[in-house]
Amino acid sequence: MYEGPSEEDIERFSSDDTGYCPHCGEEIWDDVTQCPACGSWIQGSASHRTLLENDLRKRMIILIIALALGAFVILQVF
Ligand SMILES: [Zn+2]
Repeated sequence: MYEGPSEEDIERFSSDDTGYCPHCGEEIWDDVTQCPACGSWIQGSASHRTLLENDLRKRMIILIIALALGAFVILQVF
């Protein structure tokens, strides 16, 4: 069962030990031979390109949330 990312998971993302399943996009360890999420067999190593794309998307979402929160705070002040 997947219960969302913990701090330990976030720590792992910063290393090169994880990649993403080319079939379902689930984050997986580089050295696994079968995706635990979709059961697809991994040929070679997991994709790191998707990891980079997901990281950029995460940063954009965080930025948007930060801006929305900032706007909300400003509206509360006035
Ligand atoms: Zn998969």
